[in-house]
Amino acid sequence: MDTLANSYVPLPAEALDADAMRAAIVRKLTYDLGKSQAGARDRDWFMATALAVRDRIVDRWLSVTRAAYEGGQKQVYYLSLEFLIGRLLRDGVTNLGLTELVSEALAPLGVDFEKVRQAEPDAALGNGGLGRLAACFMESLASLAIPAFGYGIRYEHGLFRQIIRDGWQQEYPEDWLNFGNPWEYARPEIAYDIGFGGAVEAVIVSEARMRHVWHPAETVQAVAYDTPVVGWRGQHVNTLRLWSARAADPLKLDAFNYGDHVGALADRVRQESICKVLYPSDESPAGQELRLKQEYFFASAALQDLVRRHLRVYGDLKSLPDKVSIQLNDTHPAIAVAELMRICLDLHGIAWDEAWEITQGTVSYTNHTLLPEALESWAVPLMERLLPRHMQIIYLINAFHLDRVRAKHPGDTRLLSSVSLIEEDHGRRVRMGHLAFVGSHKVNGVSALHSDLLKRTVFKDFHALEPGKVVNKTNGITFRRWLQQCNPGLTGLLTEAIGPAFLDNAEALKDLAPLAGDAAFQQKFLAVKRQNKEALATLIRSQLDIRVDPHAMFDVQIKRIHEYKRQLLNVLETIALYDAIRSQPTRDWVPRVKIFAGKAAASYHRAKQIIKLAHDVARVINSDPTVRNLLKVVFLPNYNVSLAEMIVPAADLSEQISTAGMEASGTGNMKLGLNGALTIGTLDGANVEMLEHVGAENIFIFGMTTEEVEARRREGVQGSAAIAASSRLSEVLEAVRSGVFSPDDRNRYRDLVDALCGSDYFMVAADFDAYFESQRQVATRWADQAAWQRSAILNTAHMGWFSSDRTIRDYAQEIWQVPVRR
Ligand SMILES: *Cc1c(COP(=O)(O)O)cnc(C)c1O
Repeated sequence: MDTLANSYVPLPAEALDADAMRAAIVRKLTYDLGKSQAGARDRDWFMATALAVRDRIVDRWLSVTRAAYEGGQKQVYYLSLEFLIGRLLRDGVTNLGLTELVSEALAPLGVDFEKVRQAEPDAALGNGGLGRLAACFMESLASLAIPAFGYGIRYEHGLFRQIIRDGWQQEYPEDWLNFGNPWEYARPEIAYDIGFGGAVEAVIVSEARMRHVWHPAETVQAVAYDTPVVGWRGQHVNTLRLWSARAADPLKLDAFNYGDHVGALADRVRQESICKVLYPSDESPAGQELRLKQEYFFASAALQDLVRRHLRVYGDLKSLPDKVSIQLNDTHPAIAVAELMRICLDLHGIAWDEAWEITQGTVSYTNHTLLPEALESWAVPLMERLLPRHMQIIYLINAFHLDRVRAKHPGDTRLLSSVSLIEEDHGRRVRMGHLAFVGSHKVNGVSALHSDLLKRTVFKDFHALEPGKVVNKTNGITFRRWLQQCNPGLTGLLTEAIGPAFLDNAEALKDLAPLAGDAAFQQKFLAVKRQNKEALATLIRSQLDIRVDPHAMFDVQIKRIHEYKRQLLNVLETIALYDAIRSQPTRDWVPRVKIFAGKAAASYHRAKQIIKLAHDVARVINSDPTVRNLLKVVFLPNYNVSLAEMIVPAADLSEQISTAGMEASGTGNMKLGLNGALTIGTLDGANVEMLEHVGAENIFIFGMTTEEVEARRREGVQGSAAIAASSRLSEVLEAVRSGVFSPDDRNRYRDLVDALCGSDYFMVAADFDAYFESQRQVATRWADQAAWQRSAILNTAHMGWFSSDRTIRDYAQEIWQVPVRR
């Protein structure tokens, strides 16, 4: 069991005094913001409170950071193009144990902490699960007192704001930095030159040695912005260092003086555009030069920074693998492999073999997807133009790599072209996943199924060459944010029922299991859920002007909109249920609210069409008096971390219905299960492991397995076969196709339905009947409330393993070799 609690050192007494906190907040308001109390708005109080809370973090931050260097501890560097953080005030306040104190400090000022909290904009520096994972990992690293830096980009505009107009998604720029960011420290003095383009000069050093000097055509500066990340109980604080681009020359003074005011600034605007926006690719084809620039920009800045820090303490790079672990979150930072080689070879004169040992010993890589369109590759001419020296190094890495393969498997040309870092077929391209694989000592998938599939599919040949390199690290979520902070009602009930041990050791949630059948406890569990549902119902009413009944089942699908996640399957089942209710209105239907939220990539037309369909269906159903309150459909706009924190505690049913083999892990499934929702899902991603943990009787599993999906695709079975076999599905699709839900444009969904009749790539038609049937079992279980509550409690009880603390411990032991405080 975890003993974090035993080493808990409380904050000094004055830090725990509400009067002192109030005085500190007012001082910040007055002297840092220059505002009077009378004129202060919620946003001002937020800034003042955040600054006062930040002051409580800084001393520890500085001292633990220093102690880590002085103690020679190994440092973990987590490189991620995305950090989907959300708000930080409640995170800081709860981890420091200041929740009541801050509320008490604000109350006499007539300020409501809840309103102040909500005035904080979401830091939405990520698209979805991958970015949210990085944020959960940062919190767990700090909570486990592992010295770590997160490295990423300080995007001026994070993920777009989604507005729904007439059922269609529209994207608007997001502006989280407009009113300043109280958590970050700008470090204009910590800046590195990042080169692009130019040429490579080969300098003869001696007869046996050649040194390469890269003369970039252009350099941009990467400037550090640091955010302290405070761990649970405030004992350890790590750094999230995000890089911002700064032009080396702010303006061309001569051009400006000639009167070309815009032209004088053009270079600056272009260079600084690197950190303007989060790349809007949620697994849609990337292919733009700016994206590659972003990747190199932050990977190079991170490496220059960590190498400088390492050299200051240890003097040379030989010891890098003993003192540093670099984790690549997907292939976006994979260019780091070539950059670390360049630093070793060109800047420190280290010989190739040793440089390679250093690189491989330090770097490891997490794969997040098997989707072919999301496996990054860059055209060789683009790489040669933008990063000429890196391209040379990649060629050499590839040559040595292929020599090793050839030595083992002479004459196997298929194998050679399959594992080559260069794809030769569709124009020459650098395969970033292969580069990351070869340059790492460990490669991990993010759920047991996903890691097995990696070994069977994309990295099959690599796995055969280096068995043991691919390992699994099933994703997790931080329970501080996804239980304690977002669901204080449940946290209070759990503490009352099983004591506070689970706050420090998630596995202690198991102590709840014996209470699952206890009628009195079930009532309390239900009451907490009801309260959370009432809060969500209020939000739905204020946002959409739709009334939903908190006694109805809240059936929730919240995630990016993607065909493989199959929101369409859910919408079609909703229509089938609607038809069933209308044909037998007097049956004892279980009242349901179908709740959707999620963004579609701006260029992903099919996903936007599905959002529109959800709205069209919602309009028809919500306004049909025969349905009464038996079915409501709700689409909450602008899904982000803060909205998830509202929906997750209020969910009864969690929809995790991706096509088997396509969701790497999922983490939304874990958040919802932890908060007592039952899952309806496929055998995909981490659902498989959730089934093992919560037990088959507490989860609804349906549909084809990965193998069955593969077989059906191989055999080329059309969706029309499944449709012909299901009168229910035929009727639903006929209604959609003929425009029943789109009387203003009867052809709107023709192509959508045609795609289901054709290849049905995502198996929506093929899985429909199984899903519909599984939903009827869900309704039957709901009708037996004692059985439902029992299952819900057991879901919470058995989710402990899905804490990101467990995930991080696994990385620490098997990949990073860093000690973890137990
Ligand atoms: C957890 C989370 C995700 C990931 O959800 P999945 O269901 O695993 O796809 C995406 N976006 C936000 C805002 C999240 O909080």
